[in-house]
Amino acid sequence: MLRTISGFDRIGEENAFAVLARATALAAQGKDIINLGIGQPDFKTPGHIVEAAIKALRDGHHGYTPATGLLAAREAVVRRTLTTTGVEVSPENVIIVPGGKVTMFAAILIFGEPGAEILYPDPGFPIYRSMIEFTGATPVPVPVREENGFAFSAEETLALVTPRTRLLILNSPANPTGGVTPKTEIEKLVKGLEAHPHVAIMSDEIYDVITYDGEEHCSLLTFPSIRDRLIVLNGWSKTWAMTGWRMGWSIWPDGLYDKVRKLAVNCWSCVNAPSQYAGIAAIDGPQDDVEKMCRAFDSRRRIVVDGLNSLPGISCATPKGAFYAFPNIKQTGWPAKQLAAALLDEAGVALIGGPDFGILGEGYIRLSYANSEENILRAIERIERFLAK
Ligand code: PLP
Repeated sequence: MLRTISGFDRIGEENAFAVLARATALAAQGKDIINLGIGQPDFKTPGHIVEAAIKALRDGHHGYTPATGLLAAREAVVRRTLTTTGVEVSPENVIIVPGGKVTMFAAILIFGEPGAEILYPDPGFPIYRSMIEFTGATPVPVPVREENGFAFSAEETLALVTPRTRLLILNSPANPTGGVTPKTEIEKLVKGLEAHPHVAIMSDEIYDVITYDGEEHCSLLTFPSIRDRLIVLNGWSKTWAMTGWRMGWSIWPDGLYDKVRKLAVNCWSCVNAPSQYAGIAAIDGPQDDVEKMCRAFDSRRRIVVDGLNSLPGISCATPKGAFYAFPNIKQTGWPAKQLAAALLDEAGVALIGGPDFGILGEGYIRLSYANSEENILRAIERIERFLAK
C-alpha cells in the first residue's frame, strides 16, 4: 500500500471543472447544452495580445525567465496597478505566476499548518477552503450574506479573529455572488485589523475592473497601514479573456516575497516566456476590448437578473461585479445541488449548485453569464419549463 500525506484525504476540488467535463460529454453525445457553469469569458483573447505571443516565439523567447517573471512584465504590472489603484508598487514586490490560483496556493501554503486558523469567504471560491484543509489549518468561514449585498461585514469578520488566525482571505468583486464590498466597509475592516498585526491578508482582486452601475472596486493596496502583511492576487485570466494562458500576478510584502520566489524556483521555475510577452501587450495595449467585454457582461447581467426574477420561486439580487448571478432558489423547494444536476441532465443547462461554494451556498445556484445573450435567454426559458413540470 502506498502511503501519501493526509492532506490529500482532505483536499477538495472545483466542481465547475467536473460540470464542464459532464457538459462536454453530454454535448459530445449530441445533446444541446448551454454552459453557464464555468467562470470564463466566452470571448477570445484580443488579437494584439495573441500577436505579441507569436512574435515572442518568433523572436526566440523560448527559454527560462527569472522565477519571479520578466522585469518588463513586472514593470507592466506596476503600471497597471498605478492606473487602477493609484498606488505605486515596486517590481521587486511583484511576481508573475501561472494563473491566479497559484497565488492562493502559495499564500495558504505559507501560512497554513495544524493549529493555525485561516478565514475565508463563505460562499466563496472553493479552492480557498480546499487548500486550507490540505495544509491541516482550520478553515474559518466568514459569512457573506445576501441581505448584506454579498459584501463582507467588517464587524462579523473581525469577530472571528483569534490569536491563532494567520491569514484572512478577502475577495471583491466576488465569485460566486457578484458582490462588491463597499469602500466604507473595507475602511472599517482595515481599521479593525490594525489591532491584529499577527493576521496576514490575501485580497483576491481578480475581477477588479469588472464592476457595474458605477460601483467602484476598492483595492486593499490603498491602505498603507496593512501593506507589510498584504498579498494582492490578480491576473490576466478574466480581464483579457486569457484563462487558458495561465497568467497571473501577485504583489507581496517584503517579508514574504522571498518565500514565494523560492516556491517558484522549487515548483514552476517561471511562467512560459511568450505568455509573459502577451501579458505585457495586454496591459500596455488598447483596452477597447476589455471595455467591450465589460459592456457585454453588463447587458447580459440585466437579462439574466430580469429573467431569473420572472421565474416562480427564484429571486436574484443584482450582481455588482464579476460575471456571476447567484439567485436564491429556496422557494422552489429544490436542494441546490440536485437542482443543478437535474437542470444539466434534463434541461441541458449547466450551472453550479451553491453548496459547492460553501455552507451558506445552500439555497442558491451560480450562473456564469459569460455566454451570449441568446444562450442566456434560451437557458432561462429551459429553467422556466423545467420548474413548471
Ligand atoms: N480567484 C477567483 C475569485 C476566481 O474566480 C478565479 C477563477 O475562477 C481565480 C481566482 C483563479 O483564476 P486563474 O484562472 O487565473 O487561476
